[in-house]
Amino acid sequence: RSGGRVAILGATGSIGTATLDVIAALRRHDPERDWRAWSISGHSRIDSLGKLAAGSDPVPGTIVVSDPERETSARSTLKTHQLHASCRLDFGPEALVRAATDASVDTVVAAIVGRAGLESTLEAVRAGKRVGLANKETLVVAGPVVTQAALESGSVLLPIDSEHSAIYQCLAEARSLAKTTGDDNANSPCDRRFSQKYPGVRRLILTASGGPFRGWTVDQMRDATPAQALNHPTWDMGQKITIDSATMMNKALEIIEAKWLFDVPHDRIEVVVHPQSIIHSLVEFDDGSVIAQLSPPDMRLPIQYALTYPERLPCPAPPLDRGNFWEMTLSPADHERFPALTLGFEVAQMGGTAGVVVNGANEAAVPLFLAGKIRFTDIAELCRETLRSHHHESQPTLTRLLELDTWSREYAAKLAVKLVV
Ligand code: NDP
Ligand code: MG
Repeated sequence: RSGGRVAILGATGSIGTATLDVIAALRRHDPERDWRAWSISGHSRIDSLGKLAAGSDPVPGTIVVSDPERETSARSTLKTHQLHASCRLDFGPEALVRAATDASVDTVVAAIVGRAGLESTLEAVRAGKRVGLANKETLVVAGPVVTQAALESGSVLLPIDSEHSAIYQCLAEARSLAKTTGDDNANSPCDRRFSQKYPGVRRLILTASGGPFRGWTVDQMRDATPAQALNHPTWDMGQKITIDSATMMNKALEIIEAKWLFDVPHDRIEVVVHPQSIIHSLVEFDDGSVIAQLSPPDMRLPIQYALTYPERLPCPAPPLDRGNFWEMTLSPADHERFPALTLGFEVAQMGGTAGVVVNGANEAAVPLFLAGKIRFTDIAELCRETLRSHHHESQPTLTRLLELDTWSREYAAKLAVKLVV
């Protein structure tokens, strides 16, 4: 049973603010554990950060502004919220690591977007914290390093990504039964010896909403605008993941995330399209039985589950409207129209340096698309081309991965210049 002191890295974002909401509810439902945001971070939205801190009860002890360039303006903004007296202010990327490893903190919610979340998440893992992982890019970039660090420190990685939370929940329910038969002594379904512990698991089935372009042809997608791509039908999320959902690069990143999180080979992962976003994922067992997790498309449930696992408490997310049951559909994913999916499976199979390269190219391509410099369909193309051009290594060091992160961004940006919009 974890304690209630939470560091929220990326508190100003969509996951970060939802986490604050969950903590406020847990404070009411579970007063014994004295739930609180011990520290919160923001990068550019400093006024929001001040408002979030001022609106928290109790006010967080530490406020981190991770962009060091904003120190002067942040000090005066936070002063206007009268926070300078009650909170410690800390600045720069190293401040994220200090917040993530603070001895007083029980759980770190890793909710920074992109590779920028890597160092603080990795240090939280190394410090043996419970880590609620929203920042999937950390595992995509450095899966082997992060999972090895978790094994060594005893850190428990609890997925916040709704699909992975769903799988975790299905496996945890199966495991709790195994436990009552005295069969299991591990502390988490994400233990690296997953395959030995779950000999009965045949396949992990990730659901995908299909995004705003689910029914579009490739020709239509070629001319898709940023506004159309940002208009997600079921989820309200940050900009980068919303574009990733439209290209289905998000599902590619999730295939890779699942590989590392559950130590499952790529050919035991499947993707199916489920536009209603009610079934968050499924697990198929060897006897053919399939167990699924269902809830409304609201991230507060997986966030809360990561905080309170293995307990379940009342959650501020609304209950499932039974009307949804009559309209749920599952259909095969179309790899031809969404080539990112094939890329995701290839990268999961390759492992090593493949993840960092595709992620770097994608992180370079998304802002170029948003700025109107490349076409929507160029995003996946740039990722594939960058992957093709790199020399694959199967056992890279962290330093090598970080070098390739820089290389892949630059390479994709150079390729993009050659494209004519
Ligand atoms: P948002 O864009 O809403 O928030 C991102 C957060 O990261 C903000 O707090 C932002 O600060 C901070 N940030 C941005 N750049 C940096 C940087 N260079 N250094 C430090 N902090 C930075 O994203 P989401 O909340 O949507 O997503 C967060 C993560 O969770 C992503 O990895 C995403 O894939 C994952 N996720 C999100 C889901 C969702 O429903 N939103 C669902 C599943 C996974 P500021 O805003 O102050 O600049
Ligand atoms: Mg997801």
